[in-house]
Amino acid sequence: MKSVIIAATQNKNKIREIEAITSQFGMSIISRDEAGIAKVEIEEDGETFEENSCKKAYEIMKMCGKTTIADDSGLEVDCLDGAPGVYSARFAGCDGDDEANNRKLIGLIKDVPYEERTGRFVSVITMVFPDGETISVRGEVEGHIVLERKGSNGFGYDPLFVPLGYDKTFGELEAEVKNKISHRANALEILKKRLQQREEL
Ligand code: IMP
Repeated sequence: MKSVIIAATQNKNKIREIEAITSQFGMSIISRDEAGIAKVEIEEDGETFEENSCKKAYEIMKMCGKTTIADDSGLEVDCLDGAPGVYSARFAGCDGDDEANNRKLIGLIKDVPYEERTGRFVSVITMVFPDGETISVRGEVEGHIVLERKGSNGFGYDPLFVPLGYDKTFGELEAEVKNKISHRANALEILKKRLQQREEL
């Protein structure tokens, strides 16, 4: 039987990617709206992806009493000392304005040579069970940042990010490819192993 998990995130793109991967290991994800959980804003005031991810999953679990999954993610750019990092969604000020975030990023690194425009997407996925048991895992994907948006797939900084070993951005690569190599895919692969170990105990 499929286990049903409540997604703590409201970001439909993230839910789509998480669902595409977790469905392969028998997990069905339902959104907070589908679960009938009131639209409450959970303040992401942590200084790390781990803090924010755990907070989101735990708060939603407390509201619904069911197993929840949360993703806190972002882009770390080396020549910006890891920025935008945990502030990726609101880098340009307004939460979730991808266009403005991309513009600000390009402006900040436009004079940096390609070899130095390195960085990584980070995803910390947390699962919290009704008894409070918590599994939190981190996935990363390394790559380069380009100065011109390319492709319309994905979301966020995808049109600017070329994963290592590829010559296309996440915006140009098909969803199936991104979902095999992304930070989220890597985190979910570790989560899958942790869940398997847990069942063996
Ligand atoms: P969060 O909701 O605080 O975790 O914000 C995550 C932000 O990081 C998003 O709004 C995007 O700007 C960025 N981000 C996270 N994952 C991805 C991804 O897979 N592709 C592109 N941008 C991402």
